[in-house]
Amino acid sequence: GANGHDGRLDEARETLRRLFGFDDFRGRQADVVARVLARQSTLAVMPTGAGKSLTYQLPAAMIDGTCVVISPLIALMHDQLRSARANGLRAATLTSADADWRETMDAYRAGGLDLLYVAPERASQLQFRDFLSSARIGLFAIDEAHCVSEWGHDFRPDYRQLRPLMDAFGDVPRLALTATADERTRSDILQQLGIPEDGLILAGFDRPNIRYAIRHRDNATRQIAQIMAEEPGPGIVYAPTRKKVEDLAAKLSDATGRPVLPYHAGLDPERRAANQAAFVSSEDMVIVATIAFGMGIDKPDVRFVAHAGIPKSIEAYYQETGRAGRDGDPARAEMLWGAGDFAQARQRLGELPEARQGEERARLEALAGLVETAGCRRAILLRHFGEDPPRECGNCDNCLSPPGVTDATETARKLLSAVYRTGQSFGFGHLQKVLTGADDERVRQRGHDRLSVFGIVGGEEARLLQPLSRALQARGALVSTEHGGLALGGEARDILKGDAAVMIVVPPKRERGRGQRDSA
Ligand code: ADP
Ligand code: ZN
Repeated sequence: GANGHDGRLDEARETLRRLFGFDDFRGRQADVVARVLARQSTLAVMPTGAGKSLTYQLPAAMIDGTCVVISPLIALMHDQLRSARANGLRAATLTSADADWRETMDAYRAGGLDLLYVAPERASQLQFRDFLSSARIGLFAIDEAHCVSEWGHDFRPDYRQLRPLMDAFGDVPRLALTATADERTRSDILQQLGIPEDGLILAGFDRPNIRYAIRHRDNATRQIAQIMAEEPGPGIVYAPTRKKVEDLAAKLSDATGRPVLPYHAGLDPERRAANQAAFVSSEDMVIVATIAFGMGIDKPDVRFVAHAGIPKSIEAYYQETGRAGRDGDPARAEMLWGAGDFAQARQRLGELPEARQGEERARLEALAGLVETAGCRRAILLRHFGEDPPRECGNCDNCLSPPGVTDATETARKLLSAVYRTGQSFGFGHLQKVLTGADDERVRQRGHDRLSVFGIVGGEEARLLQPLSRALQARGALVSTEHGGLALGGEARDILKGDAAVMIVVPPKRERGRGQRDSA
């Protein structure tokens, strides 16, 4: 804790043990509590399960005046109420579902409440403001604070009434809490709730026991069967479509002899529920699923989560891989990707309304950055969520065996030129033949043996073409055409002009020369 807060923090630790029965604070709880006790307004961004409630419940027990908690859901409030009371706090709710309003109001007026939970619709009522001024408020705690922002996924207009209410009690500190770490939402919350920028505390997104690995997919069945051979415990495999789920489940079951079940929205509800129940109680089952699976499932001993294709975004990747290793024991997150995944995602992007395209493109680019990096995967993830992690984690594929990186800018220009000169309609195989000067009938028929790009890539350089083509597709410099050919994408221009370098990760020797096609 900062100077001057230490005394109160010692007292807070003592209260933590006595009331809550915990040995110490977790993550950055202590920093949040220290700020609150120093009456500094704060926005705490921490993932679900990090222990956000404690950061206002504990100060509520220590400070003068009542902590007024704004919470969007009555069910959530009643859960909180039960746990607060179980910890010996004097707590009450004022909601439409409560019959004991009079008692609660009397208790508040008499200064007999540590915590008062209210719904945001109360905030706009003037008589509620009058009621609050009849006693002393020690803290405003705003739960699910992203509801105040239109950028958040759950905007609630009533949250906009909180600012005028809190401004009427200008000297009372504010503590906003959310698990939504998106940058734009975060700064919007600070502004909408009147919290200074240096009041942001964001932490706890790291899952140190999860080992991240991201590899090119050359044969999903073989690669995932290999992971299953190494990990005998329960696992989740995410596949992009129902058909691929069914297909992969059958093949993995054949290949490994382990129990493997499918799960997707197309199965009838009973079968789905049965498969889920079987998985939850099993110690060695693997479930192959679309993203419909996993919400609200509490299975702490999942040993691996594999993606058979790219997830929707970094956020989705974090959430899906986060289902591994909740018990804290070592677990693995394995993503298998193909250039075709990005090509398809870009195609879907084009079908979206104009207004949403920019945002979705940014998501895809962030994901491509994670996939393509030669650096630490965890550092990219945590930086994406606003944390400031060490450069290396020591527990991801790239930290454990750093890949070689090559400047492939020149070769990239040659490949892009070949795409352009052949009319932006041929697939990788044909382009490779043209560039390496292959003796090929189809190349001659098209007159491509007379192009300036014919045979300009030779020797070692030819080995870069395949990974380069993937990397250029991942970053949108190459896009696929309807007929499976390659065309120049928006990012091609800077590379051709010499304004952008193309560094690519060189595949380890054993993978070279294999997997010419992008099979699922
Ligand atoms: P959040 O609101 O961030 O999703 P909760 O406040 O519900 O998280 O807390 C998640 C769990 O962690 C609860 O069971 C809570 O009792 C526990 N917890 C909170 N703080 C600590 C701590 N310092 N030590 C141990 N357990 C804690
Ligand atoms: Zn790392």
